[in-house]
Amino acid sequence: MDNSYFCRDKLKSMAADFGVALDETALDRFSVYAEKLVSWNEKINLTAITDPEGITVKHFADSLAVFQYADIPQNAKVIDVGTGAGFPGVAMLIARPDIRLTLLDSTKKKLSVIDDILSALGLQAETLHARAEEAARRTEYRERFDFATARAVANLRELSEYCLPFVKKGGSFLSMKSAKTDEEIDGAKKAIAVLGGQIEAVNAFQLADAGERTVIMIKKISQTSPKYPRPSAKIAKFPIG
Ligand code: SAM
Repeated sequence: MDNSYFCRDKLKSMAADFGVALDETALDRFSVYAEKLVSWNEKINLTAITDPEGITVKHFADSLAVFQYADIPQNAKVIDVGTGAGFPGVAMLIARPDIRLTLLDSTKKKLSVIDDILSALGLQAETLHARAEEAARRTEYRERFDFATARAVANLRELSEYCLPFVKKGGSFLSMKSAKTDEEIDGAKKAIAVLGGQIEAVNAFQLADAGERTVIMIKKISQTSPKYPRPSAKIAKFPIG
């Protein structure tokens, strides 16, 4: 049955197409998440998408789409960089409560909302208030994650400098993009190599009737030089490559 905040059956079927089996507990959690998102959005600006169909397809299903490409082992350590209202991180955690998740954002208010949502969902994750380029220089976060994810945070060249330093050798950075990405990828290739990464796959797919999406998978093949990440002003002013 659909509630008024999201389309339960549609999410179940879209997730199944991505190879994700959502049980009743997971669907109930998505229902709570949708309701919380709408009510918090009246107080602070989290998202322009608040209609049930939009939340279902453009937030929940879009976040789960990563599972059709990434084989994420049990108890993998994942960091969602610039998580905002929890996408893709919280949606991934609902589908896979075994992952050890860190949700990072530079906006404290958004992380307070996420803490409230996690407690309503009965799920555990670390919320980390920091800029990515600062957190990635701290030993407890540097090269400690099996996966880093990011959706709608920055251009791939800058984003790689934010995200790749978090990923351990052998892990992957999963960048989720909505627009056509060929030029963006070309412009980021040098930076990805300098940061110890290698593009493994560029997966384009159609997200129902919401348009084209791309999941770029970047493998961490060698350690990132201690020179990176640089302060954000430098990243913006002096891009690698
Ligand atoms: N990933 C979410 C989504 O897809 O709905 C949020 C996208 S929102 C457009 C971008 C988020 O990234 C914001 O919440 C912003 O605070 C955060 N952000 C941008 N640059 C950041 C940085 N350098 N470090 C940490 N968070 C950052």
